[in-house]
Amino acid sequence: MQFIVRGIPREVADEVRRTHSSPEYGHPAHLELATGTGPCRCCLRPFVAGVDRRLLFTYRPAGDGSSLMAPGPVFIHADHCEAFADDGFPPCLRELPLAFEARATGGRVMAISAQPGMSAELQLQSLLARDEVEWVHVRHAVAGCFIASVKEKGPAVSRGAWFIDSPG
Ligand SMILES: [Zn+2]
Repeated sequence: MQFIVRGIPREVADEVRRTHSSPEYGHPAHLELATGTGPCRCCLRPFVAGVDRRLLFTYRPAGDGSSLMAPGPVFIHADHCEAFADDGFPPCLRELPLAFEARATGGRVMAISAQPGMSAELQLQSLLARDEVEWVHVRHAVAGCFIASVKEKGPAVSRGAWFIDSPG
């Protein structure tokens, strides 16, 4: 099984950089020098602590149109970066404690997998193989924040560009 993993769309990240406020909510974004590794929710690469500038803001991940997705805090690079657009699971994310949250139509949570000893691919495969599961949210297993959305690569992806749409 192959996966498509996407973080925050570049357009949304650039809007936050331009306005210094959260999309949908208007809360001020907080600019700081990175004190931890993140990752950046746009390029999905870890921050270099003490070097990279980052923006913290409230973000609500896109759902499937009928979902009421919960907003939460996320970090992005304060300066422009390219959104992760490769196939497969981003290598940089493997270093982090991750939780995989399987979602069905309407954003219902069907299952959560957070097994440090098991590869991301195996956890994603077992969740996406379940009936009803449409996509998976990757969250930081300690902080709980949204990192990225995952879908199985294939015809199903063309049903909707849900993870590249701007929220709201
Ligand atoms: Zn970035």
